[in-house]
Amino acid sequence: MGDITQDFSRWEFRCKCGCGKEDIHIGLVHRLQVIRDITGHPIKILSGCRCAEYNAKIGGAPESYHLKGMAADWCFGGDDPDSLLAKVANRLIPEWSGGLHYYPEKNFIHCDIGPKRRW
Ligand SMILES: [Zn+2]
Ligand SMILES: [Zn+2]
Repeated sequence: MGDITQDFSRWEFRCKCGCGKEDIHIGLVHRLQVIRDITGHPIKILSGCRCAEYNAKIGGAPESYHLKGMAADWCFGGDDPDSLLAKVANRLIPEWSGGLHYYPEKNFIHCDIGPKRRW
């Protein structure tokens, strides 16, 4: 049981540097919950909120929506034998109203609730 939605808690979106930044946008979490509900598969958050120092350290874009708590990089937790991530990405690419990019070589999806963008 999450403390934001059924399956997501604030700590999952905390900046990985240890600074404690975790002001994730609730609207983004709700949209991830919809994906969780439809697929029935646990979602692993790889990167949610980022402070400016950490974002720079890992080479994030200077205006990244991660800095505003409006972006998440994620994959499916556990086994993903049927390439569920790729299938979901193919569905989300036309449908997601914010920014979205699927990184097949790194096996994660970046999604944000900024303007609709693909790259
Ligand atoms: Zn940080
Ligand atoms: Zn990202």
